[in-house]
Amino acid sequence: MNSRKTFAAIDLEAYRYNLRYLTSKACPAKVMAVVKADGYGHGAVQLARVAQEEGVEYLAVAFLEEGLRLREAGIKIPILVLNYVEPSSFEAAFENNLTLTIVSHEQLKAIEASMKSGTAMNSAFHIVVDTGMRRLGLEWRESLNLLKASIDIGLNVEGAYTHFATADEKGSGFVAEQLKAFLSFLNQAERITKKTLLKHISNSAGIMYIDNSYFDYVRAGIASYGLQPSSQRDENLRPVLQWKTCISFVKKIYPGYGVGYGQTFVADREMTVATIPVGYADGYNRHLSNRGFVIISGRRCPVLGRVCMDQFVVDVTHLDHSPKVGDEVVLIGSQGNESISAEEMAEWNGTINYEVTCAISSRVPRLYM
Ligand code: PLP
Repeated sequence: MNSRKTFAAIDLEAYRYNLRYLTSKACPAKVMAVVKADGYGHGAVQLARVAQEEGVEYLAVAFLEEGLRLREAGIKIPILVLNYVEPSSFEAAFENNLTLTIVSHEQLKAIEASMKSGTAMNSAFHIVVDTGMRRLGLEWRESLNLLKASIDIGLNVEGAYTHFATADEKGSGFVAEQLKAFLSFLNQAERITKKTLLKHISNSAGIMYIDNSYFDYVRAGIASYGLQPSSQRDENLRPVLQWKTCISFVKKIYPGYGVGYGQTFVADREMTVATIPVGYADGYNRHLSNRGFVIISGRRCPVLGRVCMDQFVVDVTHLDHSPKVGDEVVLIGSQGNESISAEEMAEWNGTINYEVTCAISSRVPRLYM
């Protein structure tokens, strides 16, 4: 049932296309598909299935539960957990063949303590090196010590990675500094492991703009969803998500009529307004009040007044024919010759496209096509 005809349409073929495009761009490096935060709001399970079908050999999630959900859904390929996992949950990671990230000596001690059960010995680990993000991991020299300590206790350290802080800024000198620090680590790391490590650094912006950063894997998130990782557009990317709803009410208002909470919009002429049954509880940000637009009948219609929890009002006075209850409304996507991208909505919101799709709440059904 979809009683308000509101849904996020997820184009799995566009996702497949983007994966292929990124794979060809990064070749011979392989794509690690980043499906954390429920695939940036697109639905991690469905996307992971496509990635697996496409021959993607590694997935990345932020948290353990995200990896467990993929395993429960039958995803078999390796999954790297990028973020914090507290020690009492290690066993669940080991039992489900999830690759944990080694970040510190304290965490390594906790891993060692949990190794008594034996399952840790069969698990793979990647070590994260802090080359500038300052959020996880140790600096490269200390990371070598951490790597050695990990090998000494018998861990299977399969990979090493770091993360760019400024890959989306054209010509950033900091990218070169981070690469240099990572290479300094790598120069000595494989002498410690006595085997080749899977090395990775690039996020989407790295894949698109920093050719010498591919190593063995690139970690593709935002670009795999067809969204732009920076203000430099790559027209090859195909947006995977569209967000649609319908008109729930139409009425006329007259000069002096206010609209919505706080009456922040007041009509100065006779107007026709339409109510949209979507609000901030769906992830339609309140910053879009008096700033955003939707598309109806192929034309842009501005948001009037404040976005409420479950609905907002738009101006439809300028449309050629009278809009009716049930008419399609596009919040993100295309209709006729008009389109609204996640990037544009992010600009109205004062945020980034990542947050726009992640914020579309679970109240909005995802429709896979
Ligand atoms: N790698 C790590 C460690 C991340 O935190 C992220 C996303 O935040 C990614 C890769 C993917 O980045 P992007 O979505 O810009 O490709």
